[in-house]
Formats: sequence, C-alpha cells, structure tokens
Amino acid sequence: MSVTRVELAGRSYEVRVGSGLLEDVAVQCGPLLRKQAVPIITDANVAAYWQEAVTGSLTAAGFEPHFLVLDPGEATKSWQVLEQVVDWLLDQEVERGDHILALGGGVIGDLTGFAAAILKRGCGFIQLPTTLLAQVDSSVGGKTAINTRAGKNLVGAFHQPSLVLADLDALATLPSREMGAGYAEVIKYGILGDHAFFAWCEENGAKVVAGDAAAQEYAVDQSVAAKARIVAQDERETTGTRALLNLGHTFGHALEAETGFSDRLLHGEAVALGMVLAARFSARKGYISQDDAARICAAIGNALLTTEIASLDLSCRGADLVAHMLHDKKMDAGTLPFILLRGIGEAFVDKHVDLAEVGAFLDEEL
Ligand code: NAD
Ligand code: ZN
Repeated sequence: MSVTRVELAGRSYEVRVGSGLLEDVAVQCGPLLRKQAVPIITDANVAAYWQEAVTGSLTAAGFEPHFLVLDPGEATKSWQVLEQVVDWLLDQEVERGDHILALGGGVIGDLTGFAAAILKRGCGFIQLPTTLLAQVDSSVGGKTAINTRAGKNLVGAFHQPSLVLADLDALATLPSREMGAGYAEVIKYGILGDHAFFAWCEENGAKVVAGDAAAQEYAVDQSVAAKARIVAQDERETTGTRALLNLGHTFGHALEAETGFSDRLLHGEAVALGMVLAARFSARKGYISQDDAARICAAIGNALLTTEIASLDLSCRGADLVAHMLHDKKMDAGTLPFILLRGIGEAFVDKHVDLAEVGAFLDEEL
C-alpha cells in the first residue's frame, strides 16, 4: 500500500492506494468510526460486487453496516436523489462528527460528498472509489456536486473527505469501457504537467486498460500524487493551477453536450478527444510541434480510446460546439479559458482564444 497526503491549509488527509483495502475497510477506517452503525452509500452495480466484502470486514470488527443502494448512472446526481440521501442519513441519526462512506464511482462520491457537506452544516465522509476515474480524479480534492436542469455539476460544495481508500482490486470488476474512460484522466496528468509520466503512459497505457495490476498501481499512484500536489497549491481553483486539470474538458464538454450526455460518449472518452483537440489546436497556434500533437494522439489511441471526432459522425458545425462551450460553467467574466500546451507536460491557461478560430478549427476536424 502507498500513502499520499493531501496537504491543505490547516488540514490534511491520506489517500491510500493498494490491494485488499475494501476487505480491510473496518481496520482502515476504524479510528474515524465513532458509532457501531456505519452509513454507506453505494450503487447497485458496485453493491453486487463489493457489498459483501465491506459488510464482512465491518461486521467482523463489531460494526453494523447500513447500506443505501442507489440506481447506477449520472441521473442519480440529482436534487431528488440528494433529498432521498439526506433524509436517509437523518433517519440514521448521523451527527457532525460521524463519517459516511461513499462506495462507488464518481457519481456516488460526488453525491455523497455533497450530502455530507450540507448535512448538519458539514459532517465527515470517507471516499471508497471503485472506478479508475474516481480513484485518480474525483475522490481526491473535495469537489462535490449534483446536476440540475441547467447543466452538470452546477450545484455543489468544496468538502474534503477525511480519508480516501483506493482499492486496486475494485478495478478487476470494472467494465473495460469504464477503464478506458478513467485512463483518459490518468494520461491527462502526464500531458498537462509531467513529461516523464507521459512517456511511461506511452509505453504502459495499453497494459493499464488491459488490467495489468502492476501498471494500474503505478498509474493510480502517480495520478493521485499529481492531483494531491495540484489541489494543495490551489484548493478552490482560484490561482489557475487547479484549472489545468480541465485540460481537454472544454472541448470534451462540448462533445458531451452535443451527444446529450449519453452513453454514446462517456466523460473520459470525451476528455480523451478533447485532449487530442487541445493538442492539435496548440500545434495550429504554433505553441507545440505537429510531432508532439501526433505523439499525444498516438498515446491516447494506444489505450483504445477514440482520437478522431469525425468518427462520432456528428451532424453539427464547429460553431455549434463553441456554443456548447459558452454554456459551460467554466466561463469566467465572459471569457472562456482554454487549457493549451506549450509542450508535452507544459499546459497553460489561455484566456484570449479567438472563438471564431476555434470554430474554424473544429469544422476541419468534424
Ligand atoms: P460512475 O460513478 O457512474 O461509474 C461508472 C459505472 O461503473 C457505473 O455504472 C457504476 O455503477 C459502475 N461501477 C463503479 N465501480 C464499479 C466496479 N468496481 N465494478 C463494476 N462496476 C462498477 O462514473 P465515474 O466515471 O466513476 O464518475 C463520473 C462522475 O464523476 C461524473 O458525475 C463526474 O461529474 C464526476 N467527476 C467528479 C470530479 C470531482 O472532482 N469531484 C472529477 C471528475 C469527475
Ligand atoms: Zn474529467
């Protein structure tokens, strides 16, 4: 097991990465659990594989696990389900000093984290991320949110977990498409800030998505360390450092919006395409070489991710994708920041991108 500490002003917490952590959850979380009853939020897919292991560990240690099993899927991050979760937690008599366990992917983590943020004006929670995406990205850093009819993640809070347990064994039951989508957020750390890690991904990305345990462990460790460093520098996304994590997300969000946030394109798949577009746009602007853009595209493709938006067969124009971007929450005082590249491992925020040029560029790519 490896441990990364997320250091924040006046506070810190551990992210533990390793095998067997869910089977050992009672020991791992024990010091944080004050009562016999332990509230756990999860979804039906995760429960089918992991409820038994978690229950076994907790009951053997004298705890009493209480599960709330929700429907899987993005639609669960809603006002309605939030209300259900909060009412259930109140019925469980959860108090401010207690901890709620979030067992699942980013949907469960974001929803449970937000419920914890508002319950009794903020109670504790522990992230037990079970997808690659949640282990390397959403469980670390304290962003929590739900979706509303105005868009995704528009209502939420910064609320840090007390502990994150990323059990690599959970990746064994993850559908391969979800693995690929999570891998996009892994290689993102290399492209945005770590040339050496990008080079490792070029060699080993295919192994990560194929289920090689050693490669997965290295990928999760490096990603968690990168995320922890960035969050420690800019917890609330005020200085611009944390914004670099949005590499590929402005283009990606537009593609997700155009495909109706449906299963046609998972978030990570959209981010993979978005990173290819950010690299090619950076090359078009002369910030990086065409060779570097091609290298990024090849490395993403190695992990079986789609790298050509033409293959999506969208019937829209570049200007339609730009219009989606303008609805993105990352709009800041009327400007739309783009994360572009000066090199592999050197992302920067460009607040002065000409949107007509972006539209023309996308017309060529579509
Ligand atoms: P998810 O939670 O929907 O999980 C994907 C699918 O895998 C679901 O069907 C789930 O039931 C299933 N699953 C989860 N773990 C499994 C396992 N071990 N075995 C088998 N099946 C399993 O999606 P996700 O990709 O983990 O997360 C996406 C969400 O994360 C989005 O809502 C996004 O907005 C959010 N997100 C948040 C942050 C943040 O900083 N808070 C960052 C990135 C993404
Ligand atoms: Zn993302």
